[in-house]
Amino acid sequence: MISRSLFSLEHDQFRDSVRRFIEKEIVPHHERWEDAGIVDRELWPKAGAAGLLCPNLPEEYGGYGADFLFNVVIIEEIARVGATGPGFSIHSDMVATYINAFGSEQQKKHWLPRMAAGTVIGALGLTEPSAGSDLKNIRTRAVREGDEYVISGQKVYISNGQLCDVIVLACKTDPAAGAKGMSFILVEADRKGFRRGRNLKKIGWKAQDTSELFFDELRVPVSNLLGKEGGAFGMAMSKLAEERLSIAVSAITLCENALRWTIDYTKQRKAFGQTIADFQNTRFKVAELHAETLAKRVFVDRCIELHLRKQLSAVDAAAAKMLCTELQCKLVDECLQFFGGYGYMLEYPIARAYIDARVRRIAGGTSEIMRDIVARELFAK
Ligand SMILES: Cc1cc2nc3c(=O)[nH]c(=O)nc-3n(C[C@H](O)[C@H](O)[C@H](O)COP(=O)(O)OP(=O)(O)OC[C@H]3O[C@@H](n4cnc5c(N)ncnc54)[C@H](O)[C@@H]3O)c2cc1C
Repeated sequence: MISRSLFSLEHDQFRDSVRRFIEKEIVPHHERWEDAGIVDRELWPKAGAAGLLCPNLPEEYGGYGADFLFNVVIIEEIARVGATGPGFSIHSDMVATYINAFGSEQQKKHWLPRMAAGTVIGALGLTEPSAGSDLKNIRTRAVREGDEYVISGQKVYISNGQLCDVIVLACKTDPAAGAKGMSFILVEADRKGFRRGRNLKKIGWKAQDTSELFFDELRVPVSNLLGKEGGAFGMAMSKLAEERLSIAVSAITLCENALRWTIDYTKQRKAFGQTIADFQNTRFKVAELHAETLAKRVFVDRCIELHLRKQLSAVDAAAAKMLCTELQCKLVDECLQFFGGYGYMLEYPIARAYIDARVRRIAGGTSEIMRDIVARELFAK
C-alpha cells in the first residue's frame, strides 16, 4: 500500500481532535438532522471553538494561520463518517476564503472572526433557476443608486440557505458587459427585502439546508461590494482550483470508506457455506476498486501538494474533481451490491453513501463542465 506523506505530527494531532469532535457532536445527531432537513445552529459555535471553521485564516481574523492541510483534515474526517449536513466547507473554503482574499480591511475585520467562531454562517449565492453552469447568464441585478446597491433576483440550491447570516452574492452590475458585468456583493440576511424560500427536498444530503433565496429591492451600502465592480467572474475563477480540489478530497475519502465497510461486511456475511468475501467475484472486484482508489488518492495528494505551493492549475483540479467524483459514484454502486438487501437500507452507511454521492457530479461544476475545461486546454494549441 502506498502510504501518504503529506501530514506532519501537528496535522495528525489536529486530526485526532477533529475526529473526537465529530464523534461527539456530529455522529450522534446526524440522523435527527436528516429528518429535520437542517443541522442544529448550536453545532456551529461549538465547531468554531473546536477549530473546525476557517483554520487557515490569519490569526488576526480569528483563524490559526494554518496551511490548507488543516482544511483537508476537516474535509476528510467529515467524509470519513459520511456526514453531509454541516456545510463547513462552503463556509470556510469558499465564503471566508473569498472575503479573506478580496475583501476590504473593514469587511475582513467584521466578518472573518465571527465566521471562524461560528457565530456567523456563510453561504455562496451563484446558481439561479435559469443559470448554473453558464454563470455569466445570471439575472440577479444590483443597480447602483447613490451610495447603495438595490438588489433584485433569486438564487436556488444554496447550501446553508436556511442558516446563513451572510451571503456572497453574484449579481449583474452591468448586464451588457457579459462575464465582466458580474460582481460579488456581501448581503446580510437581516436586510429588508431578503427572504428565504423552501428548504429543498433532495434525494441525498438530507441534513443540508439547501435552499431558495429571494432578494426584493434589497438595499446595501456600496461598501458591501467584494473586490472590484465587475470582478466576480475573475475572483470565482481564481478560487475554483481550491473548491474543486476540496470536492475531490471528500470524494476519494468516501471511496476509501466504502471499501472498508465492504471488506468488513463481506468477511462476516455468509452464503452457500462460505463468506461473501470468499467468492472470487468479490475479491477481484474489491481489488480492482481498491487499485482505482489508490491511484486517484495518489493523484489527489499530489494536487494538494501542488496547491500548497500555489502551483495547482484549475485544469488539473477539474480533472481531479471529475475523476474522483465519478469513481465515487461507480464505487458506491458496486460496493452496495455486495451488501444485498441490507445495502438498500438507510441504516447501513453504504446506502447513505450511495444517495449522497450523486450530487458530487453536479454541484461545484458538473462532470461535463470539468471535461470541457480539460478539453479546452488540450485543444487550445
Ligand atoms: C445539493 C446542491 C448544493 C448546491 N450548493 C450550491 C451553493 O451553495 N451555491 C451555488 O451557487 N450553487 C449550488 N449548487 C448548484 C450547482 O453548483 C449547480 O447545480 C451546478 O453548477 C449545475 O448547474 P445547473 O443545475 O443550472 O445545471 P445546468 O447548467 O442547467 O446543466 C444541465 C446539464 O447540462 C450540462 N451542460 C451545461 N453546459 C454544458 C456544456 N457547455 N457542455 C456540455 N454539457 C453542458 C450539465 O453538465 C448538466 O448535465 C448546488 C447544487 C446542489 C444539487
